[in-house]
Amino acid sequence: MKKHYVLLLLYAFSYTAIAQTIQGFSPESAQDQLALEAQFDAKLKKENLDDWMQFMAAEPHYVGTEYGKKNAEWMKKQFESWGYDAEIDEYQVLFPYPKLRLLELTEPTTFKAALAPEPIAEDKYTQQGEALLPSYNAFSTDGDVTAELVFVNYGVPKDYEELEKLGIDVKGKIVIAKYYGSWRGIKPKLAAEKGAIGCIIYSDPADDGYVQGDVYPEGAFKPETGVQRGSVMDMPLYPGDVLTPGYGATKNAKRLHRKDAPTITKIPVLPISYADAKPFLEALEGPVAPASWRGGLPVTYHIGPGPAKVHLKLAFDWQLQPAYNVIAKLKGATYPDEWVMRGNHHDAWVHGASDPVSGMVALMEEARAVGELAKAGKKPKRTIVYCAWDAEEPGLIGSTEWVEDHQDLLKEKAVVYINTDGNGRGFLGVGGSHTLETMVKEIAGDIKDPQTGVSLVERRAAAAKVSGRDSSFGLSALGSGSDYTPFIQHTGIPSLNLGFGGESSGGEYHTIFDSYTHYTRFKDPGFEYGVTLAKTAGHITLRMANADILPFELNAWYKTVSEYMDEVIETTNSMRKQAEKQQQLVAEKAYVLAADPKDNLKAPEAESDVPYLDFSPLQNALASVKVSVQEFSKTDFTSLSASKQKMVNAKLKDLEKALLSDSGLPRRPWFKHQIYAPGFYTGYGVKTLPGVREAIEQKNFKEAQEQIEKLAKTFTTFKSKLDELVKMG
Ligand SMILES: [Zn+2]
Repeated sequence: MKKHYVLLLLYAFSYTAIAQTIQGFSPESAQDQLALEAQFDAKLKKENLDDWMQFMAAEPHYVGTEYGKKNAEWMKKQFESWGYDAEIDEYQVLFPYPKLRLLELTEPTTFKAALAPEPIAEDKYTQQGEALLPSYNAFSTDGDVTAELVFVNYGVPKDYEELEKLGIDVKGKIVIAKYYGSWRGIKPKLAAEKGAIGCIIYSDPADDGYVQGDVYPEGAFKPETGVQRGSVMDMPLYPGDVLTPGYGATKNAKRLHRKDAPTITKIPVLPISYADAKPFLEALEGPVAPASWRGGLPVTYHIGPGPAKVHLKLAFDWQLQPAYNVIAKLKGATYPDEWVMRGNHHDAWVHGASDPVSGMVALMEEARAVGELAKAGKKPKRTIVYCAWDAEEPGLIGSTEWVEDHQDLLKEKAVVYINTDGNGRGFLGVGGSHTLETMVKEIAGDIKDPQTGVSLVERRAAAAKVSGRDSSFGLSALGSGSDYTPFIQHTGIPSLNLGFGGESSGGEYHTIFDSYTHYTRFKDPGFEYGVTLAKTAGHITLRMANADILPFELNAWYKTVSEYMDEVIETTNSMRKQAEKQQQLVAEKAYVLAADPKDNLKAPEAESDVPYLDFSPLQNALASVKVSVQEFSKTDFTSLSASKQKMVNAKLKDLEKALLSDSGLPRRPWFKHQIYAPGFYTGYGVKTLPGVREAIEQKNFKEAQEQIEKLAKTFTTFKSKLDELVKMG
């Protein structure tokens, strides 16, 4: 007894000696919080992740399947058993199912694409036959087209510049593009803009097949009949249900006619395997593709057009399907009307062991441990809301409809949204609102990497150093590609997205090979990183839930945003230099051509001028934000009285919303955030300061100047919100 007492004293002593301060907590509450997090960690069990994955990924569970519904109902019961108030919120969303898929080569030889994956003997999940969703790209339009084929590499803007130099036009043709290089939806979007009438996308073995490593089942990479499914909806315009832009797809909602839905592709598009792609590529002639375009198939990659001629016929069953979002709430003890939201999707293209179930089961284990703590009297201060989204794969539909349907509620209550979407092995990747960077860094510095025993921050820094990248810890900016999009970009809820990866690559993404068998052999055997994800996301959730003052920090935010501004200015300057250089070359060449009138060459046209944009409104606005940021950072809000803290939190919660503009981005008003957006021509890839940056990149300088002024006003509003906070300190 005595001995124990002494030990306790010693423990308490050393604890205070190394007392840690954490963002948003007073010194005393910081100690309580760290102790709570240690209790939380002790509750996490790998076996649960394993059991639950076997259950959830046993059968295909895409939108509208019985198994998807069963998963939703099962999760609801689980949350309830852990003490949550859970419900299923249902929406009726358009979800096309492939009715007819035909792809054939008609000239100079004939070949019909099999469009059928070969099951793997060692993996029972790949043997479920009819139940496996046929491979297709969701939200391709119906179509029946025949034309010559052109190989367009990844089908991104710079590939079309290359084609133009070679004098190759895709107008009236069908293009074949490789996966990767951009989000897949950009490929048919750009092809259609260039006049193509059909689009085939295939996975080249150089990108995720035998060139990268052994293929499944010997290794993790893509076997020859593997096909990546995926949405090609025009999500940079707006994500979610294509028929109900900006509002919830409830049962009686007014819906667009399908022919008027702008986010369905303009041309038919079909994904295929490399076994199916090879005969089409072999039948192409014309120029040999540039070295950087060639893939890993044993063929000489030609561009065409032709003589390969292709017939592509697609028809879909365009039905409304129910989407089941599971929403589970644990009421906060002090601030029940402030919601900390945490989500992952539950629908998959096929079994989805990795995407999304590996993230979903980590979230559930986290929720179970938080629920147990609450039952033992450690209730969170704020309400915690766990969300399991349906219909993410076809276009972030479940989360978007829910967010659109609950706009007022969310604006009033949500303080943060924390997203995960599948998990692997390796390094922590985190993106999100830069006001949360300091908190995330504190947490990642305290959690150990299961493989090396060093902290998540150190592990990441070591890897960055090896590859010559910046080794400082920072959040990446969020573009799109998962369920955080409606929260941050449409509603201005501060958001995070996290997961582990970098050492678990493979070719299973969106194929029938993303199974429990594949996952436990190649992605995260033993679920070590699954538990580490539950820990990391759990600590973030608990800090947000229990902080005295919401842990937003502005110095990191300011630093990042001013870097974005410098980049945009730098881009404009280098565009101007480039244009001047090109103009001069044209002028010199024109002189040479004039000197030799027999020469029939046509002189290239001179590029137009890049004007001097006036960035001073933006520079001035940011300079004055800096002053307020410094004042804000000096203020200790955690020593205020409880009633004052409550008022500060209420204001802090709305800070990120000051970065929205009601009218949104040019030509896409759904996207309202002025700092982060998915690129109009990159899809998932982020564009920061998107209004200004994209106008410059598209050489729309009049719009760029307007956007500079608009953004400057946004920063001025943001500054006034900060000043109001400082006054309360
Ligand atoms: Zn996913």
